[in-house]
Amino acid sequence: MSTSTPRIIIALDGFSSSGKSTMARRLASRIGYRYIDSGAMYRAVTLYALDHGMIDAEGQPRAEAIIAALPEIRVDFAVQPDGTQHTMLNGADVEAEIRRLRVSNAVSGVSAIPEVRHALVAMQKAMGAERGIVMDGRDIGTVVFPDAELKIFVDASAETRAQRRFKEMIDKGAQVSYQEVLANVVHRDHIDSTRAESPLRRADDAISLDNSYMTVEQQDAWLYDRFCETVNRL
Ligand code: C5P
Repeated sequence: MSTSTPRIIIALDGFSSSGKSTMARRLASRIGYRYIDSGAMYRAVTLYALDHGMIDAEGQPRAEAIIAALPEIRVDFAVQPDGTQHTMLNGADVEAEIRRLRVSNAVSGVSAIPEVRHALVAMQKAMGAERGIVMDGRDIGTVVFPDAELKIFVDASAETRAQRRFKEMIDKGAQVSYQEVLANVVHRDHIDSTRAESPLRRADDAISLDNSYMTVEQQDAWLYDRFCETVNRL
């Protein structure tokens, strides 16, 4: 790729645990773009809410308290010596904490609050101002970057996605059952795709990918081809 190749915005959306973060991260590192995991930002706000008593016993967010606290919540990313990024919440590294089931169980409720979305979407738009970014989430191609040059919508069956997330969590030493993880995936799919504010949906101009039976390497190759096609067209 020549140095004059235009730097574009790449948006990957899809259901929970569809593998889009892995694809997005690996593509960004291959092409020298910045990678942003927008889900990590919603998870960090949710962790703050959990730690400040803003989620009730039924797991429902206390929306007013969370909205009032938004100016106090700073979310950013710190690049590690090995090139990976860790999510930072008010200066503390919360990368491991935000992946726990207690956060996964509360995050869809918190991310359905319009004010939370407006605050995080504004930060995400600012991160893409210079382009050269790969961002994954639920509304990246529809709301955050409707003008992204390349949009991908990733899907796989709920069972495949739960199996992947279960393995990832077990590998990290978490004590969870497959049934708990599957229930969380199905529950989040439902809330994320039926909420009033920017629900998860495929952008009309997104390319769909069902990666249920693809290896990570096949997904990498497929996405890199789409990237090359897109920049060659510009
Ligand atoms: O991508 P991940 O599964 O970590 O996202 C966690 C949750 O954050 C999702 O289930 C969804 O509720 C929310 N989210 C969102 N919009 C995004 C990214 C994530 O609402 N762009």
